[in-house]
Amino acid sequence: MPELPEVEVSRLGISPHLTGQQITQVIVRDRRLRWPVPASLETVAGATIEGVERRSKYLIISTTKGYLIVHLGMSGALRVVPADSLVVKHDHIDLVLGSGLCLRFNDPRRFGCWLYSATHPSADHPLLRELGPEPLTDDFTLDYLFNASRGRQQAIKTFIMDNHVVVGVGNIYANESLFKAGIHPKRAAGKVSKARYQRLVPIIKETLARAIEQGGTTLQDFTQADGQPGYFKQELMVYGRGGKACMQCKSTLKEIRLGQRSTVYCPQCQR
Ligand SMILES: [Zn+2]
Repeated sequence: MPELPEVEVSRLGISPHLTGQQITQVIVRDRRLRWPVPASLETVAGATIEGVERRSKYLIISTTKGYLIVHLGMSGALRVVPADSLVVKHDHIDLVLGSGLCLRFNDPRRFGCWLYSATHPSADHPLLRELGPEPLTDDFTLDYLFNASRGRQQAIKTFIMDNHVVVGVGNIYANESLFKAGIHPKRAAGKVSKARYQRLVPIIKETLARAIEQGGTTLQDFTQADGQPGYFKQELMVYGRGGKACMQCKSTLKEIRLGQRSTVYCPQCQR
């Protein structure tokens, strides 16, 4: 599943090809995505793209005739290809551009979304308005996270994965960040000391920033017709390593389910 770093790398990959371009045509081959693709999406035909932003795992394509809200879901991928290149299975949407290229959306499982908003969606759209701060901005601080955690009984891992608290800390990054910060994933969020949050906040930022950096260098070119952008391998210390040796102390890493998500931690290094 694409996580925040993959979505950010997608944004970086597609935006140079989109910004400043006119959308000459909107082609929707299958409207059955997570929510039916609305007819209003075609509103942007003839509009010029002003930029591509990211909010949480949503991409917001700003045009002179409104905004497109795009989510990759479980299996969605965006590529920039010549508009006349062969359409393959699961290529559901094309934004055809004045340059002769098109932004093509492929999504085998169809959990992705493409929606239209006449106004900028970040403040008032139901999908976006309740979201917590972006982890890589100055809004995500020690004081913010510590204050938000007070009185919370839920496990710290569940807490940092809650999009109302902070967006984009997916399962992989929650596991890795808590390991690096030495915090047991099941510890109640409200019982974690300020000193430990002081370690955790920059670790979350670094973990995500590093994944974006790695993704940017290892991903295939977004303009390659046969490329599979959107996913990349990363160096992981605990995620996917349950039963193996801790890279710090050689103890056996434990794997449990927490909030239905695979959780791996070192019983020695994380307290
Ligand atoms: Zn260890």
